[in-house]
Amino acid sequence: MEFKPDLTVDSSRYRAVGTFHTHPTHDKFEQGGLGNDSFSGGDLKWAFENLKGVHIAQGAQTQFMVAFTAETPANIDTAEIKRDAHQRLNELTSSAG
Ligand SMILES: [Zn+2]
Repeated sequence: MEFKPDLTVDSSRYRAVGTFHTHPTHDKFEQGGLGNDSFSGGDLKWAFENLKGVHIAQGAQTQFMVAFTAETPANIDTAEIKRDAHQRLNELTSSAG
């Protein structure tokens, strides 16, 4: 499922500075011992392209956070980030029985 947060706020008073979302456990991850999954590659790609703020993901027992700072490179190959994250997840779950 594609992750697309709703950033709509009353712009006369507020501005979006980050997002929070949950990662419900998934059978594939639980069988591989990874029910506590962090950001997906798509999550990181979306954040870089849409809102360079603070993002929190709730895994099974752990919260994960990404914070963009002045030190964050201005240009990142977001497709590569997504591809690498999915490849790593597949590596971690493919050996699970
Ligand atoms: Zn996510």
